Amino acid sequence: MSVRTRFAPSPTGYLHVGGARTALYSWLHARKHGGSFILRIEDTDLERSTAESVNAILEGMTWLGLEYDEGPFYQTHHFERYRAVIGQLLDEGKAYHCYCSRERLEQLRADQMVRKEKPRYDHHCRDLRTPPPADVAPVVRFKTPLEGDVAVQDQIKGTVLFSNSELDDLIIARSDGTPTYNFTVAVDDWDMHVTHVIRGDDHLNNTPRQINILKALGAPLPVYAHVPMILGTDGQRLSKRHGAVSVMQFREEGYLPEALLNYLVRLGWSHGDQEVFSVDELIALFDISNVNRAASAFDPQKLLWLNQHYLKHLDPAHVAHQLSWHMGKLGIDPAQGPELSDVVIALRERAKTLVEMAQASTIFYQDVTGYDDKAAAQLTPGVLAALDDLYTRLAALTPWTAESLHALVSAVADAHQLALGKLAQPLRAAVTGKTASPPIDVTLQLLGRERTLQRIERALDYIRKQSKD
Ligand code: GLU
Repeated sequence: MSVRTRFAPSPTGYLHVGGARTALYSWLHARKHGGSFILRIEDTDLERSTAESVNAILEGMTWLGLEYDEGPFYQTHHFERYRAVIGQLLDEGKAYHCYCSRERLEQLRADQMVRKEKPRYDHHCRDLRTPPPADVAPVVRFKTPLEGDVAVQDQIKGTVLFSNSELDDLIIARSDGTPTYNFTVAVDDWDMHVTHVIRGDDHLNNTPRQINILKALGAPLPVYAHVPMILGTDGQRLSKRHGAVSVMQFREEGYLPEALLNYLVRLGWSHGDQEVFSVDELIALFDISNVNRAASAFDPQKLLWLNQHYLKHLDPAHVAHQLSWHMGKLGIDPAQGPELSDVVIALRERAKTLVEMAQASTIFYQDVTGYDDKAAAQLTPGVLAALDDLYTRLAALTPWTAESLHALVSAVADAHQLALGKLAQPLRAAVTGKTASPPIDVTLQLLGRERTLQRIERALDYIRKQSKD
């Protein structure tokens, strides 16, 4: 039977990195086995589910490259089916109507608490002998077996036993007929022929309930793998307090999807000492049963390190594509300047994030309108003659290459008895407005002749004006 996995987010917020890691593990498991990866939107909680959050989830999945083979399916489109299965369970005596009032249930609970018993339903309506009250819309409860255990054979946690006596006769349909969470998950996993349920371990307690429902339906059981939580560096569950937690927030902060995926896969899974994995390597090496049992802590420094690694090693054209989004946010049009992948090559040694890279790229696409203090300090009358000479010789330079530019700047420095740096720094200040940029020859080459000359001219004017004042 071919492997079928699913990612089943509830659309009640952004795509959290914990959810993204679960999706990644499910996706990898399907890809590894040549199976299918399904996206199912669990939107039955009508009050908390929003279209905006569905979009955020889809956007996050697309950005990460976790393409799904089937879906997105929406649970709200399956209400007819759930109603039919509930009818079937009632007909077969595997579920029953419960008419107990809220007051009765509250009293029951209070009494159990006094007796220090675990609160649970007392089966009052399970074998109701008296005629049901006519004016009460009942809920439907599932008949949990009265005895025995449910063994969850978890691929990550090992075998986890739950005693049926601990599980309640859970409500599978509310009094308005709408189905409840554990029931819809079980029915959909069955209908979608899911073979492997890979999800967060906050759902482990739901699993025996879902197994009982699947058994009652005569459905095959999937294999379960419950992935531990992600913690913050303080050992608490990762939340907004720790910084970015939404996938798209990491995009905003300048991370590459490759870096985030690589980081997430390693957070809870390893293959020897290897830190950097291509997606193809992951598909070959990943094994869900090797995921750690213990929760792992999110380490922003390591993610940053991986991001820098990918900025340096990925195809510059690919990085350029991601970079252009950040440039757009800064109001820069990458078409109005040098080829963006050349800019990536020039900047990638220094930038840790795409945000830093986009900021550094502005010198190639936007006019220099001022000099920062350090740059201004470089533009002194002492370099006027050399800069002026450089201007004339640059105007005539052919070809305009990093090599020829380097040779020319050196020659002009020599002619004016300046150490190379004593000319290169003022030149950098002149053409970038700053004192840090890629090597000056590369910077000039990317700027092109016209922009370079305009900027030197502006700096010459600036120096002359300063000396007059
Ligand atoms: N909808 C659940 C959630 O977002 C996941 C349920 C499941 O994977 O079975 O937490």
